[in-house]
Amino acid sequence: KSPVHIVGGGLAGSEAAWQIAARGVPVILHEMRPTQSTAAHHTDALAELVCSNSFRSDDRETNAVGLLHEEMRRLGSLIMRAADANQVPAGGALAVDRVEFSAAVTRALADHPLVTIDRGEVGGLPPEAWDNVIIATGPLTSPALSDAIRTVSGESALAFFDAIAPIVHRESIDMSAAWLQSRYDKVGPGGSGADYINCPLDRAQYDTFVDALLAADTVSFHEWEASTPYFDGCLPIEVMAKRGRETLRHGPMKPVGLTNAHKPHEKPYAIIQLRQDNRLGTLYNIVGFQTKLKHAEQIRIFRTIPGLENAEFARLGGLHRNTYLNSPQLLDDSLRLRALPRLRFAGQITGCEGYVESAAIGLLAGRFAAAERLGTSPSFPPATTALGSLLGHITGGHIETIDAGPRSFQPMNINFGLFPPLTQVPTKDENGQRLRGPAKTVAKKRALSARALADLDGWIGA
Ligand code: FAD
Repeated sequence: KSPVHIVGGGLAGSEAAWQIAARGVPVILHEMRPTQSTAAHHTDALAELVCSNSFRSDDRETNAVGLLHEEMRRLGSLIMRAADANQVPAGGALAVDRVEFSAAVTRALADHPLVTIDRGEVGGLPPEAWDNVIIATGPLTSPALSDAIRTVSGESALAFFDAIAPIVHRESIDMSAAWLQSRYDKVGPGGSGADYINCPLDRAQYDTFVDALLAADTVSFHEWEASTPYFDGCLPIEVMAKRGRETLRHGPMKPVGLTNAHKPHEKPYAIIQLRQDNRLGTLYNIVGFQTKLKHAEQIRIFRTIPGLENAEFARLGGLHRNTYLNSPQLLDDSLRLRALPRLRFAGQITGCEGYVESAAIGLLAGRFAAAERLGTSPSFPPATTALGSLLGHITGGHIETIDAGPRSFQPMNINFGLFPPLTQVPTKDENGQRLRGPAKTVAKKRALSARALADLDGWIGA
């Protein structure tokens, strides 16, 4: 069989390669690093995590991304296998040692007899001889390739801004001010209920911190960037601070579910959390602290945080422009470019957001490409599953029309809002008591998850 070509060995491209090879079809995976890199990658490893080391909640019963984890596991996902094998404690979240995680993915693909890894940029449209291609070049697709895609798709590319958070050396954190605790003492896989480092701020310290953010120097923007929006789930902290003095206290700095171990009777006004970033526990990232402040400003301002006065930074935050396609207009049901169907797209470039979602779309694109090569028709996951809901978001299954015409297409994390509604909403708990408020919401999520996994198993069985 002639090979499927994949351009981009990130989260999506690596998963797609694995799925294709698992079906007995040869794959050539083209990755431009280390010959050429992006503004956010630092290594030559496949599936590098460019910012946080978290795959978010692993709760498959009441959380949509936890459910997506489980669906991917049941479909033999390489990304999930490598994540599970390289977990670091993080409360209810699935966080990984980023170096070991990427090394495991790289090793698995390099060792697979049907996978060839070709290092080098695909600097334009893939050659015509490549009749079955997956483009999984991510939000930082090299300019030469994104120009070529723009020309062939006939659409101006869409874009938004995404930022990354700083990483601190653990030994430089003053634990006589900070303490270890997970929010609400939640115990996750491999965790102890004390997985996060917490730094407390009183009211005066919080006010000084917000003032410093508001006055700080940010990286200057080019004029063309001024109209590009931010991804709402990843706003830089200085942008949040501009939205209101209390915004951070209700976001990444919320002081709930935590008690200062050094001063149990004093309630902090705000709290900054750091999450373990590597298995050794020598690095911690500041949770939710993505920023575009100039590097010197980051060091100056973050060192005003109690516990971080002497912090040494392994990496500072930064901001990047992300490019994605207007997929509902441009792609067909199996993620092929309508204008040039030998090209299929996967990952964040299709308009999903997040490591897990990108890998999930890679998983589906890989299965579709393999089916095409094997001469069978693609099998679509049920619309009730997390995979099906995400695919529907991308290919247009859920695009609603409002009076002004089709809705604008925005990158999105998986969430229960993308799922088709339940035909029967639970109204009573197991004791026959009427469900209300948060308990009702949880019961609804449980029902959506149970339906998804039952339908997924039916699909796998078929
Ligand atoms: P990538 O993982 O970026 O993989 C694309 C690959 O293609 C790269 O290896 C690149 O080198 C290669 N490539 C590009 N162009 C070419 C070419 N022409 N030829 C050959 N190879 C090429 N998601 C989260 O869940 N958590 C986060 O904290 C997070 N932070 C982010 C921070 C930033 C700055 C950005 C940009 C994104 C962030 N994301 C985050 C979003 C997203 O989940 C990741 O970008 C994710 O890696 C996307 O997966 P992907 O496979 O689509 O792309």
